[in-house]
Amino acid sequence: MRNLKCPQCEVHRFHVKNELNERVVVTVNGRYEIIPVHATDSLIGFDLTVIYCLGCSWSGSLKSLRGGKHS
Ligand SMILES: [Zn+2]
Repeated sequence: MRNLKCPQCEVHRFHVKNELNERVVVTVNGRYEIIPVHATDSLIGFDLTVIYCLGCSWSGSLKSLRGGKHS
């Protein structure tokens, strides 16, 4: 399954944050599922409504990513 990409720079790695400003690096697959890059990472407690691009300053919702059904 293809990973979705940043709409600005087409990088396909992102991070999500929790209330402590901790970060987990993730990818997003074609079903808009957020997958930690490191299998031992947990997404419990992380805000999954906003994701931050690792390649540029973009942040936004999953539905804004490129490579899904509409691109
Ligand atoms: Zn980007």
